[in-house]
Amino acid sequence: MGKRRILIVGGVAGGASCAARARRLSESADIVIFDRGDYVSFANCGLPYFIGNIIKKEKNLLMATPELFRDRFEIDVRLQSEVTAIDRAGSRIAVKDLRSGKSYYESYDALVLSPGAAPIRPQMPGSDLPGIFSLRTIPDSRQIKGWISRHNAGRAVIVGGGYIGMEMTENLLKLGLSVTVVEMQSQIMPLMDPEMARPIQAELVKNKVELCLNETVVGFEKGSDNLLSVKLKSGAVRETDLVILSIGVKPETKLARDAGLDIGQSGGIRVNKRMQTSDNKIWAVGDAVEVEDVITGHRGVVPLAGPANRQGRIAADVIMGRDAGFRGVQGTSVVGIIKLVAAFTGPSEKTLRNLGLWDETGRYEKVYLHPGDHAGYYPGSSPISLKLIFDRTDGRIISAQAVGKKGVEKRIDVISMAIQQKATVFDLEEAELCYAPQFGSAKDPINLAGMIAANVIRGDASMAHWEQLDPEQIFMLDVRDPSEFKKGAVNGAVNIPLNDLRRRRTEVPLDQEVWSYCFVGQRSYYAARALSQYGYHIKSVGGGYKTYMDRKGIS
Ligand SMILES: Cc1cc2nc3c(=O)[nH]c(=O)nc-3n(C[C@H](O)[C@H](O)[C@H](O)COP(=O)(O)OP(=O)(O)OC[C@H]3O[C@@H](n4cnc5c(N)ncnc54)[C@H](O)[C@@H]3O)c2cc1C
Repeated sequence: MGKRRILIVGGVAGGASCAARARRLSESADIVIFDRGDYVSFANCGLPYFIGNIIKKEKNLLMATPELFRDRFEIDVRLQSEVTAIDRAGSRIAVKDLRSGKSYYESYDALVLSPGAAPIRPQMPGSDLPGIFSLRTIPDSRQIKGWISRHNAGRAVIVGGGYIGMEMTENLLKLGLSVTVVEMQSQIMPLMDPEMARPIQAELVKNKVELCLNETVVGFEKGSDNLLSVKLKSGAVRETDLVILSIGVKPETKLARDAGLDIGQSGGIRVNKRMQTSDNKIWAVGDAVEVEDVITGHRGVVPLAGPANRQGRIAADVIMGRDAGFRGVQGTSVVGIIKLVAAFTGPSEKTLRNLGLWDETGRYEKVYLHPGDHAGYYPGSSPISLKLIFDRTDGRIISAQAVGKKGVEKRIDVISMAIQQKATVFDLEEAELCYAPQFGSAKDPINLAGMIAANVIRGDASMAHWEQLDPEQIFMLDVRDPSEFKKGAVNGAVNIPLNDLRRRRTEVPLDQEVWSYCFVGQRSYYAARALSQYGYHIKSVGGGYKTYMDRKGIS
């Protein structure tokens, strides 16, 4: 292949990885990165922790510099250089040097767009007032830090309870600010199911974060006591010293649109599996593109660093003549929230229902479990709440969500890989995972999730879910110990501890549907196995009383 000129718009996750890979594949290519900002290849994911002083030095956010790209890779990085137009017919781009104000053209053989996504800033009264920030760049984080110290800020309002909102909450708490989170939906972390988000909400409340759920901001004013007043739809007002808007991002598609490239329905640049746009000399990667969900087939914008990096690499491979393709996304994510970690991969039950995929055919099923992160006999074990969704027709794993203090992300990573490999719950059952008591259990939570789900498919366990509960029709059998029962139980439940059950089974009606529950679902499963063999119509309630409390918001 002769000398090729590859121009890349955007020099962070997707753009930088594309450039470096292209150089590894071709020593002869001319590679130029344009970025309108002051930095190339910086760690946007580290910005909340820079604000929270966990990452102490700004220079630690820089993974590479233009000099490093020049010296190590012979890649020309042009900062403060905004690409303003694509001339597809002439295979060239217009670039504006933001320092000199001068514009010029550069020709390409291949053009890669990795312009990212911009934080959404809603237009509403007062939204341009000083002290209202969004977070995308190093200068944004510098401004937030400066504002906090200049004004000796003591209060913050975070608008949006997604992962950037949560990371900012944690970091502002660390700086000693009191924080209010305003979220339009009835839960924070809206990509998770509500019962899986509840422990996170409880953790926030425990740390004195004010949660305003089902609430929207309608405007801002200069404050009286504090610097700003935030007006909420309900009529409530919050006085604060700063506001962080973290209500989502919008793909940067202006260049692509103006050039007549196809844009998908979700608003991202349309690309094929080879990351090629509707013009076969132009590729697009990262937050700006529309991608396909591997499970639902639904096309959408999924702004995550991992996919952006991989897509950049794939685009470089394809440009250099290799056969490469992007497999699609699962949205695998993790977030740390004070002492908790929440992670998920694949679509939530809520998403499946919204897409009409979780229908009455009963194709999709879920199991809940709350095992320890490592063997209970070794000190320091703490529970992980895990929800696994699978296809009951063939056992294929659809998605998983988990919350706990430790070991959460490793379980979700294993399941994420299993989903990519189209594995089934039977594969999880048999997975051989590393074990020593301080790290896991001989039956790891992954194995347990697989076993419970496989039991359901094989018919070894009849499973019930709390949302199906009809107290009029169902005999609720609580098989926990009386001391646990006393602390809280489902209304009308009868307590027969598992150890007494065989002896006292005549107290359970034979002619009525029975649901057994315990704290996490294990003893109730044993109860269901035993009583079903005596002819009882019995189901075990998934996730037990712990999941009941998470659903009801009982802490
Ligand atoms: C605060 C924060 C925390 C995050 N945390 C995580 C995390 O923990 N995990 C995770 O997976 N993801 C996280 N992300 C998301 C992740 O950073 C993005 O998914 C990823 O950076 C996307 O890469 P990209 O190359 O598409 O775009 P970006 O990284 O946004 O880079 C785009 C670059 O293109 C430049 N540009 C745009 N238009 C032009 C133009 N016309 N001319 C020249 N330059 C242009 C922009 O200035 C920008 O520098 C976080 C994002 C933020 C903002």
